[in-house]
Order: sequence, then structure tokens, then C-alpha cells
Amino acid sequence: MRSGGIIASAAQPLQDPDQLIDSVETFIFDCDGVIWKGDKLIDGVPETLDMLRSKGKRLVFVTNNSTKSRKQYGKKFETLGLNVNEEEIFASSFAAAAYLKSINFPRDKKVYVIGEDGILKELELAGFQYLGGPEDGGKKIELKPGFLMEHDKDVGAVVVGFDRYFNYYKVQYGTLCIRENPGCLFIATNRDAVTHLTDAQEWAGGGSMVGALLGSTQREPLVVGKPSTFMMDYLADKFGITKSQICMVGDRLDTDILFGQNGGCKTLLVLSGVTSLPMLQNPNNSIQPDFYTNKISDFLSLKAATV
Ligand SMILES: [Mg+2]
Repeated sequence: MRSGGIIASAAQPLQDPDQLIDSVETFIFDCDGVIWKGDKLIDGVPETLDMLRSKGKRLVFVTNNSTKSRKQYGKKFETLGLNVNEEEIFASSFAAAAYLKSINFPRDKKVYVIGEDGILKELELAGFQYLGGPEDGGKKIELKPGFLMEHDKDVGAVVVGFDRYFNYYKVQYGTLCIRENPGCLFIATNRDAVTHLTDAQEWAGGGSMVGALLGSTQREPLVVGKPSTFMMDYLADKFGITKSQICMVGDRLDTDILFGQNGGCKTLLVLSGVTSLPMLQNPNNSIQPDFYTNKISDFLSLKAATV
């Protein structure tokens, strides 16, 4: 397999889960396609998480979905009957706020948000001033001769995430801030091409909103979600974990597996989400995880099979 001169060794089917489990101290799980699909828990997940916890493994959940805050995700885990602490959940909404904190974003500056409620909640918790978000979802522009849109000169960052209420008002407002406010940051929660609003088809993802602002500003965003290593660095630092002691488990090659590889972690692809075995083995795919398996409960069934 050749990609830019780098020869990636092909992923191996997971045959000895114990060996993998014993070789790391932390598992980072993507959520959609790994833990649940939409609002349905994937088979065997509670038992698998319990087994890993009983072995003393640290479990962390990382999602690029920015529509919910950590607290709102905590509720989703609870509703599905999973015993997961808010502190173990890292959504890209939280990552955006954590990034601004990490660079000491000035408290007298504001953040303009193109995205949903999760980002607003996390900015508020972190003590940042913001505007935009769902409130701007119904705003329209009125084109008459000489019309000019005013924008807040105190906006020092524009955060763009997945937004079902995206419109031209938001594009123009964000563009004005990025182009006209000196030093204004352009932050993307993720650049996912597609997302799974329903299981009937793929839907345009956060990357489509980010792409609009990229087109108008001709600026590259700073990405805080996967596959950027910001969250990995943050986690390693917060929990004091060595990255080689982490196994990243996900269903997507260009976000989850790349995120793990960019961070120097072990990687496991599960086929319970968006990636099929033929997609993994397609000669045009250059992203090869260390291992692949059908679903995370294979940790239990493969063990049972070898006893
Ligand atoms: Mg996923």
C-alpha cells in the first residue's frame, strides 16, 4: 500500500484482546458507531466497559459532535444505562472552550458562535462572553441600496461547529469578524465531511459549515476536534497519561484512527459504524489501524473463544 512514499502495514484482525488490553492503561472511545448508533446502544457495550473498568483501565470518551455539552452528553450516557462520569467525556464543544482557556483568550473579548447549544454551554462554563449560536438561526439580511451589516469589534474568535440552523447571516457575520477584527481567531470544532443525523443516509457534516467560512475568508481554521491532537494532548496532560499507553478505538479512519496515530497511540478500528472491511482494505485507503474487529464486545467474545 503506497501513499506519498510511505508504506503502511495492513491492519490485523484483533485475535488476542487480552494482549492489547494488558499493553495499555487507557482506552479512548469514539461514541457514535462505537458505543451507540443514533439513540441505540450497540450490543454488549455495558459489559465490555465494566470488564475494562474491573481491570483498572481508564476510560475516556471523545466525540467530534459539538451540538451537546459534556453535561448533556452525560445525560445521554445515563439514558442509555451507561455508568459514565461527565469528567470522562470530551466533546469538541468542550475542546473549543478548553483551547481558548489554554491560550488565555482575553476575558474582555467575545466569541462569535456558528453552531448549536453545546458550544454556548461550554463557553459559559469556562467564563467566556459569546454571541450568535441558535439565536441567529432565524436572522435574515435585508438587501437594499447601501445596506451594511454592523458587527461587534470586540469579537476575538469565531468558533464554527455543526449547525442545523446555518444561514447567510451567520456566514457574513463570521466573515466580517475574521476579516476585519485584528487578530480574530478562526476555530473549527471539526471538519467532518458527513454526519449521521438519521441512519437512512449520510448528512452534510461540520466540515460544510467550516468550508463556507474558509471560502469567504481564505483562512485555514484551527481545528480542536479529531484528528487534531489538541484533545489528545489535553487528556494526556490532565490525567498524566503516556500516549503509548493509550488505545484509541473508533469507527472512522480519517478522524478516529488518524487522531490515535497523530498522538502516537495504539489504534483499533471497529466495523460497527461507518467503515466497512472493504473500505479498510481498499487500495486507495492509506490509513491502517493496528487492529480491527467487528465491535467492542469482541473484547469479551474473543476472550471466551480462546478459553
Ligand atoms: Mg464515530
